[in-house]
Amino acid sequence: MAATARDEHDNTELTVVADMWSPACTAIRTFLARNEIACRWLQPTEAAGRELLDAHGFGVEDTPVLFEGKRALKPTGEEELAQWVGLHAQPSTDHYDLLIVGGGPAGMAAAVYGASEGLHTVLLERWAIGGQAGLSSNIQNYLGFPDGITGSDLTDRARRQARKFGAELVISLYADRLRPVESGFAVHCTDDRTVHARSVIVATGATFRTLDIPSVDKFNGRGVFYFSALTEAPLCSGSDVYIVGGANSAGQAAVYFASCARKVIMLVRAKSLATEMSSYLIEQISRTPGVEVRTGVEVVDAAGDTHLEQLTLRDRETGAVEQVSANWLFAFIGADPATDWLDESFARDDHGYLLTGPDIATVEGAKSPWPLTRPPLHLETTVPGVFAAGDVRAFNGHRVAAAVGEGSMAVMLVHKFLHD
Ligand SMILES: Cc1cc2nc3c(=O)[nH]c(=O)nc-3n(C[C@H](O)[C@H](O)[C@H](O)COP(=O)(O)OP(=O)(O)OC[C@H]3O[C@@H](n4cnc5c(N)ncnc54)[C@H](O)[C@@H]3O)c2cc1C
Repeated sequence: MAATARDEHDNTELTVVADMWSPACTAIRTFLARNEIACRWLQPTEAAGRELLDAHGFGVEDTPVLFEGKRALKPTGEEELAQWVGLHAQPSTDHYDLLIVGGGPAGMAAAVYGASEGLHTVLLERWAIGGQAGLSSNIQNYLGFPDGITGSDLTDRARRQARKFGAELVISLYADRLRPVESGFAVHCTDDRTVHARSVIVATGATFRTLDIPSVDKFNGRGVFYFSALTEAPLCSGSDVYIVGGANSAGQAAVYFASCARKVIMLVRAKSLATEMSSYLIEQISRTPGVEVRTGVEVVDAAGDTHLEQLTLRDRETGAVEQVSANWLFAFIGADPATDWLDESFARDDHGYLLTGPDIATVEGAKSPWPLTRPPLHLETTVPGVFAAGDVRAFNGHRVAAAVGEGSMAVMLVHKFLHD
């Protein structure tokens, strides 16, 4: 099994001294939690926190600072943080058979199948293995898990399985360009590194939308959070929690928060939950004590001092506004395809999702037509030898099972491409 440097650190306690309401603290908390790295948190105002800072020559103004044994780090970026906590942050070589971009279910399935079938495989992930599914508190409709499975459990299993077969999983590398070269493809990353491979699977999924209200954005990480129920829930214990969104991800979060929050208030723009949510989840919400569903309502303003203290809500039909006290707002309001890093040679649909295989022919007068005489393979993009799988692909089901299925299938097509 390809062990990571993280294994060497596992017996030492990681402590973070940080102000809980600072955005930098939220970023570190999310990064560590999503990469399954346990740690102890201390406020700089606590005696133990102050002592640790003093002992290593830091002041309160230096926080957040991480401590592990005799080592200390005031992180300047995610790559440095990843490296310091022992995650694999750099590819071991610059040429592979298969390069996968994105570590969600589609990318991880491709990594398992690619590596287990003898392809020298590397996966680049900008944040944390697991993708959107890693944020789910309970996936109930994935085959083989009749009692549901948490996103972090599924992610942990996928990570171990991919490593067992020798796939390299590189965290905190952000792919920002892909171009064909003589030996195959070159993927350029934001740290200026270029990784080469004979074939590529794009599994970059979708990136969540933000509310885009300046007074609300001001509190990002200080009471306003996006798609992060799992990492923040312990802090909300006994408080009221507002959830914005009416699709399955918002519904799961409502049920999850109900176990620790005083009350959960769902704010749904549509007139009914049935517009976007699966019926099993609507039923579950109706049976969960402490969840109030408010339909036809939207957030229009926010206020507070160091963190979120108040929200202004508007009834979309009557226009009536009201102000409510709120310290916690979690938004689950949809996502857009993560395709902005790819150039125009990749054909997309009107929403930016990648067209593949037979779907390419459905777009008349496309800017990027299929360039070869042979037809494209099923998940092949308009750049021959580059495949797309999962949520990033047009006409994908936006489900874990669809992503896993396509990630696995893409590897079969990579074999065909390499051997034909
Ligand atoms: C909270 C929540 C709950 C859900 N619950 C369910 C459920 O119960 N059942 C179900 O079937 N589905 C559920 N879904 C949907 C499901 O999670 C997605 O359909 C699935 O994760 C898509 O997988 P993917 O691998 O295609 O993309 P993603 O999961 O979006 O993963 C893409 C990965 O690519 C990375 N990436 C993006 N761009 C780059 C780049 N340029 N360089 C490097 N890395 C990059 C991202 O960081 C991300 O990790 C849920 C989604 C959410 C958000």
